[in-house]
Amino acid sequence: MTESLNRIRAFLADREPPTPCLVVDTDLVADRTAAVSAAFPGALIRYAVKANPVPAVLDAVRSAGAGFDVASTGEIDLCLSRGADAGELAYGNTIKKPSDISYAYARGVREFTTDSAGDLANLAEHAPGSLVSIRLLTGGPDSVTPFGHKFGCEPSVAAALLRRAAEAGLRPGIAFHVGSQQPDPAAWEIGIATAAKVAADAGVGPARLNIGGGFATEHREPVPSLAGYAAVIHDAIRRHLPGPELMLEPGRVIVADAGLIRTEVVLVTTRAVADERRWVYLDVGRYNGMAECENEAVAYRLEPVGVKGPEGPVVLAGPTCDGDDVLYQRTPCALPLALKAGDRLDIPGTGAYTASYSSVAFNGIEPLRTYAVGRFADAG
Ligand SMILES: *Cc1c(COP(=O)(O)O)cnc(C)c1O
Repeated sequence: MTESLNRIRAFLADREPPTPCLVVDTDLVADRTAAVSAAFPGALIRYAVKANPVPAVLDAVRSAGAGFDVASTGEIDLCLSRGADAGELAYGNTIKKPSDISYAYARGVREFTTDSAGDLANLAEHAPGSLVSIRLLTGGPDSVTPFGHKFGCEPSVAAALLRRAAEAGLRPGIAFHVGSQQPDPAAWEIGIATAAKVAADAGVGPARLNIGGGFATEHREPVPSLAGYAAVIHDAIRRHLPGPELMLEPGRVIVADAGLIRTEVVLVTTRAVADERRWVYLDVGRYNGMAECENEAVAYRLEPVGVKGPEGPVVLAGPTCDGDDVLYQRTPCALPLALKAGDRLDIPGTGAYTASYSSVAFNGIEPLRTYAVGRFADAG
């Protein structure tokens, strides 16, 4: 990882791109993909494209033998344009139109996830014979960025859908996602045990067990290693549901550590007379890259570039005219007292869910520009 940061910092020093920008090291993306494969031997790895869809990242993922978890026709086209085979794609979004399904099927996609009777009927009609996994609501511990109740069905509903999928001539599977940035491996054990119960209740042997993504990456707090997650997951599979072929859909754990955002300080000031904390405004905020600062969910590390000396507490905010564009006011943040407008800050660990979440032109600010370094950097 040090090597990777060195490559990124050398690029920034050499090219001096305008801020804010994200630089992603594709060598680390390839290494991380290989590490996930090594931790789960024989499993199918489908990188969740939404985490970071830049072509160089997709190329690095592919080079390490993984395919893609896609969520829209646009992501299908993107992956195919990078040379992916349709058989390496899994359409993981349970929210889709019949026309999306027909499009995917026509392009050769044969694996889908669903969690409702309506979508299952559409799949049976427009993607006949495909492998269709029923996504469960698993009820494990909340992750840092939980999905709430938007996806997944209750186990009793899942058992009925599993039977219906088999009756409709589809190949039934079971899927779940424990929520992104999930620090507790026990969440997967609960999901796998629930999947086993659903399969038994349905009397259907699933062809696929898709345990989603969710593996956490380190910011300020330590998180389990891939080996730590894998030990719990393999043990749970052995005890509960050893039959089906395993699939993973990691996003964050493949790309987060490979990215670094460089940002410029726009203003340093104080606000309330009774609060001596400085407000530090950056040229990156919640609408051009720092979306996961919503509710201060992810506490990124902040590294001033070339500014040293004693530090004091700050509130950190973005550049737009939006009152919600504040990154941290409860999360403790300290920055050098000498920090002033024009200074630079680096935010490491920002390769996932940053550029892909930025708005197109809110307040006239362009989406976060991404640059790639490493072996796959020259992707056209
Ligand atoms: C977002 C998403 C993922 C990736 O989750 P990470 O936490 O980034 O690993 C995987 N599967 C589905 C269905 C998703 O929506």
